Amino acid sequence: MVDDKIKVIVEAARDAIAKNLATLVRIPSCTGSEGKAQEYVAAQYRGLGLDLDIWEPDVRELFKKYPDVAQYPSHWEHDLILPYQDLPTFEAWMASGKTDVLNYKGRPNVVGIWKGSGGGKSLILNSHIDTVTIEPASDWRYDPFGAESGDGIMYGRGTSDCKGGIIAAIEAVRCLQSLGIRLRGDVILESVVNEEHAGNGTLACIAKGYVADAVISGEPSDNQIRVGSCGGVYWGITLAGRVLHTKGRWEGDILRGVSAIEKLPVVINALLEMEAEQNTVTVSDVYRGMKPFSITMGRVWGGSYDTASAAACTLRGSVYFGPDVGSVGTVMSEIKKHVAASAGRDPWLREHPPEILFYHHDDAHWMDPGVEIVQVIQQAGEQVLGRKPPVVAGMSANDCRHQANQGKMAAAVFGPGTGNQAHTTNESIRIDDLIHNIEVLAAAICRWSQ
Ligand SMILES: [Zn+2]
Repeated sequence: MVDDKIKVIVEAARDAIAKNLATLVRIPSCTGSEGKAQEYVAAQYRGLGLDLDIWEPDVRELFKKYPDVAQYPSHWEHDLILPYQDLPTFEAWMASGKTDVLNYKGRPNVVGIWKGSGGGKSLILNSHIDTVTIEPASDWRYDPFGAESGDGIMYGRGTSDCKGGIIAAIEAVRCLQSLGIRLRGDVILESVVNEEHAGNGTLACIAKGYVADAVISGEPSDNQIRVGSCGGVYWGITLAGRVLHTKGRWEGDILRGVSAIEKLPVVINALLEMEAEQNTVTVSDVYRGMKPFSITMGRVWGGSYDTASAAACTLRGSVYFGPDVGSVGTVMSEIKKHVAASAGRDPWLREHPPEILFYHHDDAHWMDPGVEIVQVIQQAGEQVLGRKPPVVAGMSANDCRHQANQGKMAAAVFGPGTGNQAHTTNESIRIDDLIHNIEVLAAAICRWSQ
């Protein structure tokens, strides 16, 4: 039985697999600096005899083909995010004065194709090479690029998110090749740039025609199958005040000194009302029991002195929303609508309207949990591990949204490592999880593409 052989081969390669992941973790690839790590991935793909395609995403093309979802390129150390009032545009990116650092020079996507003999179903295995920053670096107990191991756990930035997924795809293919298996369908390995704070790497793959009969994303999911994903909108609202000393606040009955800070409740209440309203939306089955809309007021700052009214005050935060709520456009216009309506009832804000800016957005996506790729992963899990990986609703945003919404593909997340580890200091992965993921992945590829 091929499933048993897969297990034997992957278990025997455990140390070599851990070493391969360690080598990749030791090559820093924070968003914007993905080049060196991509060279390593390309060498791995080449070693497997895959057909290679290496190219830098074309920002103009992305905005032209996908004006509703293309984002500004981002870079962990250079003003990560350019704000926008409506959706980002190519013209605004060109005019930003930041194109010399926010671009894809030296940041290629790497795709490797294991050509099938023909007539089988194709499969994309997608993971991102970029990681978030290691800051605050002093909070790490381990070297973030050291890949230190102990008790079956490896520590380092990207171990879970998402280098574990990249290595899992490589090792699953290596395992099948060493068994002499020849598939009928193509297996396409994608190591993409700039998933964090953008998603343009995967979008560029779709723009280049990389579509398949299904996608498995290697985002950390505790070896559960995640279907659907939430969208997100990062927003900021700035209020204006009139600066006066405390003693000048009143001129008879007339209010002269208006602090921007005292107007915050108007905005906060508007946003909370919007959240309550959106949470009356009916959710589809897989999201049953969950609220479809969450708002976080993340940060607030403003003012300069205890005896001076604040000239300005800014509130920043985020919204996460489920696929039943609608698109990014819906959420952006709901925020604008609710804040404008509240401000319209306040004499000062009517004259001095709040300024609303957006910093990042992702659409949600919805997928039927009954699709064939989900069943195939479950069957593979049952055979190889003796248990079906559970199917759960995806709560965070990931590149599957582009594969589903723009690429029209069935895209499920099934990755090693745990999502709670992503973006944290002391990020880690259990080597057992990685090994199990590779085993199930190899068995699933075999079933799908044979
Ligand atoms: Zn990730």
